[in-house]
Amino acid sequence: MQKIAILYDASQAVLSTFDLDEVLQQILVIARDYFHLQNVAILLLDKDTGELYVRRQVGWDEGQDKARVKVGTGITGAAAQLKRPIYTPDVSKDGRYILAAKTTRSELAVPLMVRDQVVGVLDCQSENLNHFDSETVDMLTLFSTQASMALQNARLHSLERQRAAQLEAINAIAQQTTAVLDLKELLSKVCLLIEHAFQVSHVSVLLKDEEDLVLRASHGSLTARVPEGGRLPAGAGPWGRSLMEGKTLLENDATAAADAGLYVETGSRMCIPLVSFGQTLGVLVLDSERVGAFNANDTQPLESVADICATAIQNAHYVERVKQLAYLDGLTGIFNRRFFELRIAEEIERARRFGTGMGVIMIDIDQFKRLNDEFGHLLGDEVLRQVSSLFHQQLRKIDVVCRYGGEEFAILLSQATPQHSLAVAEKLRRMVETWQFPGVARPVTISAGTANYPDHGTTRDEIVKAADAGLYAAKQSGRNRVCLAPQPQRELAQVSGK
Ligand code: GH3
Ligand code: MG
Ligand code: MG
Repeated sequence: MQKIAILYDASQAVLSTFDLDEVLQQILVIARDYFHLQNVAILLLDKDTGELYVRRQVGWDEGQDKARVKVGTGITGAAAQLKRPIYTPDVSKDGRYILAAKTTRSELAVPLMVRDQVVGVLDCQSENLNHFDSETVDMLTLFSTQASMALQNARLHSLERQRAAQLEAINAIAQQTTAVLDLKELLSKVCLLIEHAFQVSHVSVLLKDEEDLVLRASHGSLTARVPEGGRLPAGAGPWGRSLMEGKTLLENDATAAADAGLYVETGSRMCIPLVSFGQTLGVLVLDSERVGAFNANDTQPLESVADICATAIQNAHYVERVKQLAYLDGLTGIFNRRFFELRIAEEIERARRFGTGMGVIMIDIDQFKRLNDEFGHLLGDEVLRQVSSLFHQQLRKIDVVCRYGGEEFAILLSQATPQHSLAVAEKLRRMVETWQFPGVARPVTISAGTANYPDHGTTRDEIVKAADAGLYAAKQSGRNRVCLAPQPQRELAQVSGK
C-alpha cells in the first residue's frame, strides 16, 4: 500500500510541472518524508568536467552544497561510475565516504539514468546507522527512475520552449525585416531581435565592402574594440575565415583565440556567413560573455536567421540602388530634376528651422543649339558631361548639383546668403568660360540667375521663379553673365500697379 502511495505521489510530481526546480524539489521532499531522511540531494553530472554538483537539496546547511565531486570519488561518485546504487550502512567504516554533514551515519546513492547514460545521482543520508533496509533501497531505486524521467521531461520541455521561442523570433525577424527597406534601420533591427531571441551578449553585422568587412550595425552590452563603421580586413580573423569558407564558425573558448575580437569581454563566439543567391554579403557575428555559450544545436536556427537577413539586406541594397537610379540623370550621372524638387523643399524647411539662408542657381548653356549644329550632337553630349563634372568639382559636398533639363542646371546651396550665391555662380561662369573643351574650337559660356531664401521668396515656387528671372535677365543683357534675382515687389505695389 505504502509503495503504491509513494509511486503515485512521485508520478504526480513528474506530471504536475515542467519547471525543473519545482520537479526536483517535489522529488526531494517526497524522498525525505517517506523514508525519514535527514539530507537528500540531487546531483547532476557536468559532462565537461566529469564532476557531480548539487543541483537541488533538502536538509543541508547553506553553503555545504557547493562542493563538486569527481565521478569515481565518494559514495555518490562511486554510484555514478559503477552505474548502480551504492549503500553504506555505516559511513565511518567506508573509506570512500567524504564527510559533508557531521550527523550522517548511513548513506544511499542511486544513479539517475537516462537510457544507459548517468545524468546524476540521488543522494540519501540518514542520522541512523543501517537506516536503509533492502526494501527501502529497492523503493528508492525505483523512485530514482521516476526522478530521471522527471528530469528528462523538464529538460526536453525547456529545450522545446527555447526552440519555440527561437522559431517565433525567426518568424518575427522574417516579418519585420521584409517590411524594412532602409538598410541602416534594417540592420539595427536585426541585431536587436537576435540579441533578445537568442540571448547573446552582443550581435554584430559585418558587410563586405571591396577588400574589407565594415561593422555596419551592432547591439549588445559588451565593450567594443571596433567602432561602428570601422573596417576590418576581410582576409583575417574568425569573421574573415567564415566569409572565405562560407561556413559557420563556432569558437567555444574565444579567450584563447589569437585574434583580438570585436569586444573585450567575449568568452565564446559564432560567425555565420550572410549568403544571398550564392553571393556572400558579409558575416553575422554573435558574441557571448560566457565561455561555451553556444552548442551545435544553436547553429541551425541561427543560420536560418542569417539567411533571412541576407535576403533582406540584398533587397535593401537593391531598393537603395533603384532609388538612386530614379534620381540620377542618365547622361551626366548627376542628380536629375526630380531630385532637385525633393531636395529644395527639404533645404527650405531646414533654412526656416535653423534661421539660415539657402540659395538656388539656375544655369543655362549659351547658344547650345548652335554648338550642336556646329560640332554635332555627340560632342554636345560630351560638353554637358564635362560641364556637370566641373560644377560638381567646384562645389561643397553639402551643395546639390542637378541637371534641370536639356542644357539647364539647377544648384542648391546650403546656408548661403545672396552674396555667397552670386559669388559661387560667378566662379562657375568663369570656370566654364576658360575651360578648353576638347573638340570645341571656341569658348563655351553659361548664363546664370541666383535667388535666395528668404530674400527672394519663402516657397519653392517663389525662389525658383526668382532665379529663373535672374537667368532671363542674364540672357537679356548679353549672355555669359550672372544676375541676382530682382527684389520681389511688395504685394501692395503689385496691387497698385495693376
Ligand atoms: P540660349 O543661349 O538662349 O540658351 O540658346 P540655346 O541654343 O542654348 O537655347 P535653346 O533652348 O534654343 O536650345 C537648347 C538646345 O539644347 C536645343 C537642344 O537640341 C539642345 N539639347 C538639349 N538636350 C540635349 C542633350 O541631351 N544633348 C545635346 N547634345 N543637346 C541637347
Ligand atoms: Mg535652355
Ligand atoms: Mg541655352
